[in-house]
Amino acid sequence: ARPVVAVVGRPNVGKSTLVNRVLGRREAVVQDVPGVTRDRVSYPVEWAGRRFTLVDTGGWDAKVQGLAAQVAEQAEVAVELADAVVLVVDATVGATAVDEAVVRMLRRSGRPVVLVANKVDDARGEADAAALWSLGLGEPYPVSALHGRGSGDMLDAVLRAL
Ligand code: GDP
Ligand code: MG
Repeated sequence: ARPVVAVVGRPNVGKSTLVNRVLGRREAVVQDVPGVTRDRVSYPVEWAGRRFTLVDTGGWDAKVQGLAAQVAEQAEVAVELADAVVLVVDATVGATAVDEAVVRMLRRSGRPVVLVANKVDDARGEADAAALWSLGLGEPYPVSALHGRGSGDMLDAVLRAL
């Protein structure tokens, strides 16, 4: 069976945009409104001759519980099903308490994690990406999901993690 790679992170960091970038088409739903991905959605991917399933996550109901708990819960379910995890952080915002909570959960899961510093649209954003070494997940991969910058290096890292 194809290995499964779950894409997790706070709402609005660009998870669905990244999934679309990898797919080369617009399938995952992108919106400025946080939490538009209602469920986990799986997509077949082939990169460098290897196949895997990419799972977009999101979806939260502000009425049910706090944002941190919801993101962590969504991520937790996806991570259980995954062989490797892509954690997307908005490099223009930096690491938040919610990001740190997800990192703790990922550590407990024991799954390999590729850290994506998203929204690095140009070279000036590289310093923002480097600041995410502080999360303790190793090298942050600077990516612009919007423009495609860095996505190949990130996919190579995903294959190494599998
Ligand atoms: P999700 O909630 O994590 O799935 O985030 P989305 O993919 O829906 O994106 C949220 C917002 O961030 C949208 O307005 C995207 O256009 C924007 N966005 C996503 N990736 C990038 C990026 O690399 N650069 C910039 N500047 N904006 C981005
Ligand atoms: Mg989404």
